[in-house]
Amino acid sequence: MAFSVLNCSSSILLRAYFVQEIWVLLQNYLSISRISSFMNEFTGLELSPKKIEYLKYIQEQKSTVKTTDISSQFKVDPSTITKTISELSSTGLIQHVPYRGISLTEQGRTYAEFLIRRHRILSLVLTRYGLSADEACVAVSKFEGYVPREVVDKMCTSLGHPTMGGCGKIQHDKSCCPVCD
Ligand SMILES: [Zn+2]
Ligand SMILES: [Zn+2]
Repeated sequence: MAFSVLNCSSSILLRAYFVQEIWVLLQNYLSISRISSFMNEFTGLELSPKKIEYLKYIQEQKSTVKTTDISSQFKVDPSTITKTISELSSTGLIQHVPYRGISLTEQGRTYAEFLIRRHRILSLVLTRYGLSADEACVAVSKFEGYVPREVVDKMCTSLGHPTMGGCGKIQHDKSCCPVCD
């Protein structure tokens, strides 16, 4: 009797363990396929220059940010920031938890990594045509939002996927460089 109870409870535990394992695998699969379908979808032309700057700023902060952080960083009225942040939330790129702050979603991080790569690749190109790193940074921020991802990937490939730009490290995503880390 005792043996069969033990047997029964351990088989329940075992089953629970497998269900949990399968659940984790499924979640991983869903998150990978969600990200890879998102990677295939975006053109890089989705956001206004202002939203691009906010997204890059949120990405560069290591913890969640507050509306007031963004408003003081960009010297913009907090009510204007609140409106822009709620528009960004509806794109699924950021999540805004009241009283806790703003952070990037998984898709938002993927997108922000692209934004940073685009900025740095374009800056690097301009430094090869006579601009200093600082001048290139400023010049690129005025037009980067109009350069499609497809174009950035081609430029990146023709430059041999450089790892260092004028204003920081360049990371390559799998769609640009399947063999890069
Ligand atoms: Zn820069
Ligand atoms: Zn690349």
